[in-house]
Amino acid sequence: MRRGYYIAGNWKMHKTRGEAIELAAALTAGLKDGEHKYLVAPSFTALEAVGSIVKGTNILLGAQDVASEEQGAHTGEVSVLQLKDLGVQVIILGHSERRHTYKEDDALINKKVKLALKHGFEVILCVGETLEEREAGQAEVVCESQTIWGLSGISAADVAKITIAYEPVWAIGTGKTATPEDADAIHAYIRKVIARLYGQSVADSIIIQYGGSVKPENAAQLMAKENIDGALVGGASLKADTFVPIAKFA
Ligand code: PEP
Repeated sequence: MRRGYYIAGNWKMHKTRGEAIELAAALTAGLKDGEHKYLVAPSFTALEAVGSIVKGTNILLGAQDVASEEQGAHTGEVSVLQLKDLGVQVIILGHSERRHTYKEDDALINKKVKLALKHGFEVILCVGETLEEREAGQAEVVCESQTIWGLSGISAADVAKITIAYEPVWAIGTGKTATPEDADAIHAYIRKVIARLYGQSVADSIIIQYGGSVKPENAAQLMAKENIDGALVGGASLKADTFVPIAKFA
């Protein structure tokens, strides 16, 4: 069965180094008695500073993306080796902003997932449908395809290092949250896909986070659902006043 809840904050392209330090310090204080698994993913520029604050606490250090190559002539990219050097433990891959704004396709995301695992990182693999896809009745098939692609070539042993984040694109940063029932139905479907690929015990133990306008007011209802094992939080992760109550949902 699942190893408890996992609440992650994706700070996206927010926070100067000083602001990131301030938030990280507030979170380590606010979450020190928290009972779940926690992660913060600041911008690359703040990783080192935030890493020095969360090191040795119950908050993991995450990156929001990584290059698909180990090193070389890739201007503007950041490599797994550089992230490892900074103490990063988890890499978020396939976020909808990477898929849709920066046109990352499933093959590229899968390459990044494999590279991250090869270097010992945990991965949060994001999947989710657009509004158009949902309205066309394709939410399940899109999430299935992104999950299968994302995990292609990955062994059952390595899947233990992967968390899936179901993030309906229409709910990200829009204030629209999937109902707990709708989110749970997609989570259950993704779990079935994992069972088909890796067997029931892997499917029963994989953590599936929900992401999309999670707030202190809706966190508990979402987490109460059988197949929702945590949250990937964007906007509400930028302030301790909103992230801490989500992370300690009652
Ligand atoms: C996200 O970016 O992963 C996200 C879920 O954002 P928000 O919580 O702001 O919708």
